[in-house]
Amino acid sequence: MNDRILLSPPDTGPAEEEAVLRALRGGWVAPLGPEVDAFEEEIAAYTGRKHAVALSSGTAALHLGLLNFGVGPGDVVVTATMTFAATANAIIYTGAEPVFVDCDETGNIDVDLLDEAVSDLQAQGRRIAAIVPVDLLGKVANYERITEIAGRAGAPVLSDAAESLGAWRNGRPAGSFGDASILSFNGNKVMTTSGGGMLLTDDADVATRTRYLATQARQPVLHYEHTEVGYNYRLSNILAAIGRAQLGRLDDMIERRRHTRLRYREMVAALPGVQMFGAPDGSDGGPTRDNYWLTSVLIDPDAAGWSASTLAARLNEGGIEARPLWKPMHLQPVYEGRRSYSNGTSERLHSSGLSLPSGSVMTAAQLDHVIQTIQEVTEALHRATPDVSAPLSATAPPTSSPDTR
Ligand SMILES: *Cc1c(COP(=O)(O)O)cnc(C)c1O
Repeated sequence: MNDRILLSPPDTGPAEEEAVLRALRGGWVAPLGPEVDAFEEEIAAYTGRKHAVALSSGTAALHLGLLNFGVGPGDVVVTATMTFAATANAIIYTGAEPVFVDCDETGNIDVDLLDEAVSDLQAQGRRIAAIVPVDLLGKVANYERITEIAGRAGAPVLSDAAESLGAWRNGRPAGSFGDASILSFNGNKVMTTSGGGMLLTDDADVATRTRYLATQARQPVLHYEHTEVGYNYRLSNILAAIGRAQLGRLDDMIERRRHTRLRYREMVAALPGVQMFGAPDGSDGGPTRDNYWLTSVLIDPDAAGWSASTLAARLNEGGIEARPLWKPMHLQPVYEGRRSYSNGTSERLHSSGLSLPSGSVMTAAQLDHVIQTIQEVTEALHRATPDVSAPLSATAPPTSSPDTR
């Protein structure tokens, strides 16, 4: 353990220990097994899907989801620029070309801009092989409009719900949107298997083909016959056991994160130039709600007298992990020159936004400490001379967090 207060560390305890022992003692140490089958059924029930396929990561789930829709070289896939690199990387694995679309104030894909991008690409005669929206930081995207736009383009929707398990939109659970969707159980997500992911769909053929591609595309014969290139992407039975224990605690863990959100909301009300990101957040737990994965604030440097990067540096020095919102894909060196439809919002959210420790494992004392530190630091900054800090890119990266993306 370390004493740094992290953004979203794994939250495991006796239930997970017991689950791992159960799986080990059951003799299914190999990938696949009864824990995987049960985990798939339980997640499918939780998200209201007919089929769930447990995989080794959310990235693997994105990759196989795209392959299922026939995405390949020469195709374009329209996706959100405001996301973690895995979304874009999976598109590249297929040989297709990603087209990035900017976000609105919620951080999710701007549906008017998506509409424009799709019309443009169609006018140019490009085949849009898939649309991949992302539910940013636990808030479900506007699938009503996305589905309508995708329908017009004849493109399937693969929903990247890696960050949003447990959230709802208009009474429907995250993961239930699109022709297929994916989840991540990476260590920093709202629940974890230490590493893992899932593909969700209502289409039995998609589920079958995903299982087949994830197990090296083996034909059902004794001698290992292969007619296609496959992948080794299935989840281990031991890890699925951890996932089942986590799923049993998920609603409690989300409730803890919600409580943290409300505490930060109170804090922000008293800080000039600071506002909550993504408000209103449906904190009543109603038919549209966040899963509160990460709570982030937006800082207006003119009103506050200091910038997000200054606060980030002070907090990280003091052992509190704080990070900017995702750096948009169209600004990443690896995706330089790729086609994008920008409106400046993702860039602004990246430079003014800061995610704060939000994990369900955080104790009341740790949360008090974080809030008190933010209050002290911002008061001191407010009293000090106008902000002269270096831009974000020059800020030293925080240390010691094993996987804090
Ligand atoms: C975490 C994440 C992924 C990737 O999931 P892994 O399980 O880490 O491969 C994909 N998309 C988004 C938006 C994520 O946050």
